[in-house]
Amino acid sequence: MRKVLVDIDGTLLDTVGSFCDWVNEYSAEGLRITPEMLTKYDAIDELWYPGAMEHYMEFIDNFHDQIRVYPGAMEALAYMSEWFDVEIVSSRPELQRKLFEDRFGWHVTSKDEVTDGDILIDDYPKWNYPETISVVFYVKRPWTFDLVPNVLRDTPIVTVTVDQFAEAVNMLMEDFPED
Ligand SMILES: [Mg+2]
Repeated sequence: MRKVLVDIDGTLLDTVGSFCDWVNEYSAEGLRITPEMLTKYDAIDELWYPGAMEHYMEFIDNFHDQIRVYPGAMEALAYMSEWFDVEIVSSRPELQRKLFEDRFGWHVTSKDEVTDGDILIDDYPKWNYPETISVVFYVKRPWTFDLVPNVLRDTPIVTVTVDQFAEAVNMLMEDFPED
C-alpha cells in the first residue's frame, strides 16, 4: 500500500482564510484582508497590516476551533484512507499538533520526524521530505505560488499542481490505482 503524507494548514484546513474572516469581523480599525493579498508567507505584516503576524500566531494558538476545513477535504481524506496508508504531517509544535488530535482524532506526525512516504500533498512542500517521495501534489496557494516551482525544479520529483486537496485525491484514485 502506498504511503501518502498529507499536510494540514493550507491543505486540509483553510487556516489563512479563517484568520482573514476573524480579523475582518473583529477589527476595530475596519480592516479588510484576504488570502489573495498574501503573496509571500514571510511578509505577512507588509502585505496585510503591521502586527498581523502576531495576531496570526494568537489566532492559531487560541482560536483553533474557528479554523475551517476546506470543502470536501474530510470526505476525501476518509475515502483515500481506504486505499492508501495516510500519514498526516505538520511542522507545528507538539502542543498544537495535539489540538488536531483532540479536534479531529488525527494522529499528527511532526514533519521533522517523518522517515518515509511515496506521495506528498502539501501547499508548501519546502521541508526536507524523505527521499522516497516521488510525487508531490502542490496545493496551489497565493503565498507559495512563486516559491514552489523553484523548490522542486532540480529534483526528480513529479509535481502536480492542484487547486484543492480533494482534487489531488481524485487524481490519485484515477492515476495510482492499487494493484
Ligand atoms: Mg501547509
